[in-house]
Amino acid sequence: AGAASLALTLSACGQSGEGGSKDDSGDSKGGTIGIAMPTKSSERWITDGANVEKDLKAKGYKTKLVFGEDDPDQQVSQIENLITQGVKALIIAAIDNKSLNNVLQQAADAKIPVISYDRLILGTKNVDYYASFDNEKVGKLQAGYLVEKLGLASGKGPFNIELFAGSNDDNNTKYFFNGAMSVLQPYIDSKKLVVKSGQTKMTQVTTLRWDGATAQKRMEDILTSSYKSGRVDAVLSPYDGISIGIIAALKSDGYGSAAKPLPVISGQDAELASVKSIIAGQQSMTVYKDLRKLAQVATDMVDATLNGKKPEINDTKSYDNGTKVVPAYLLQPVSVDKTNYEKELVQGGYYTADQLK
Ligand code: BGC
Repeated sequence: AGAASLALTLSACGQSGEGGSKDDSGDSKGGTIGIAMPTKSSERWITDGANVEKDLKAKGYKTKLVFGEDDPDQQVSQIENLITQGVKALIIAAIDNKSLNNVLQQAADAKIPVISYDRLILGTKNVDYYASFDNEKVGKLQAGYLVEKLGLASGKGPFNIELFAGSNDDNNTKYFFNGAMSVLQPYIDSKKLVVKSGQTKMTQVTTLRWDGATAQKRMEDILTSSYKSGRVDAVLSPYDGISIGIIAALKSDGYGSAAKPLPVISGQDAELASVKSIIAGQQSMTVYKDLRKLAQVATDMVDATLNGKKPEINDTKSYDNGTKVVPAYLLQPVSVDKTNYEKELVQGGYYTADQLK
């Protein structure tokens, strides 16, 4: 989506589309908080940045928001700059979960607390808290939906499925994929689900930087090599932008007609284009994660920490970053399809009905 339409989306959500790396003014009671988001190429992170800024300002802080353009080196130097500029705390959604160890040591030396936002930062003790969703459940919701729509539980099958996973440098990827495979594997084992490409290991199905075009290309290759006969009945897709790419590949192969309907296909993030695709009967479902709540959790963590209080935590065992188990607050993801998008997304105030037209 173009910047203009995103700005529209965000302002219609009652959120500010402002961002960039400027120093936004506001009450300075608590000093400036640095926010490092991974990219503007996906709508969700723009919304995250805007929500976090808004909540921090409401709590009396100033903000500096940067986006890393999906380049790990750029993100490291952006965080170095934020530290140099004297931020009081950092909220970071990592691009590459392993590339931040040195810069987070600099943060620790400057006594700057770090909140790992949505994606866990690995291999360093210098991450204080983790704000996210139940990521394994995201995968279970995606796969559970495919199983239900195919009618596998009531004995139907066999069906052909292809599997896609997220970026291999994002810690969430394995939680999504393993959660999904915990649901799908029994059907693969009993041959009720067949992966004709043979690509079932996570390392075979990841999509670097969650790139939709990369997924589109892989789907095209699979269609050419493995579906000279037979059809794809389901696709496990971890993220809406990837689903859009997969659907494009399927359509150019003739899927999407009454004679050759699109497969059941999952997604994640309830991005505007995908919700529209769901309403139009193309993408089947998405996993909605209320980013307003995530921003609230992360900014509450910052506020508590800077005021010498313990933030609210609801998980102290699931997220081991290799150096320590990072105390977390995990929110609940929600499965959304054309039967409940109005209730969850419109009545829930996430989108207006007009935005979905
Ligand atoms: C997030 C997902 C998002 C993906 C791609 C993951 O780390 O948890 O919500 O779809 O990154 O941006």
